[in-house]
Amino acid sequence: MAFPCPICKKPLGLTLEFIMRNPICACPNCQTSFNFTVNEDIIKTYQETMSEIEKIKRQYKGMAKFS
Ligand SMILES: [Zn+2]
Repeated sequence: MAFPCPICKKPLGLTLEFIMRNPICACPNCQTSFNFTVNEDIIKTYQETMSEIEKIKRQYKGMAKFS
């Protein structure tokens, strides 16, 4: 999951995980700085999805192989 720059539309190559750790960063292409701290809902959804995946993985442990 990566975000394009909203200004120059170039892919930032940033993952949501990176943004969670570094909510304020700059576009390497146009140098526009962003503050992603406003996207709390997205982060919450992401964390919920990740914990769901972990739950499913545990549930099927020994039955299916996840790589
Ligand atoms: Zn940009």
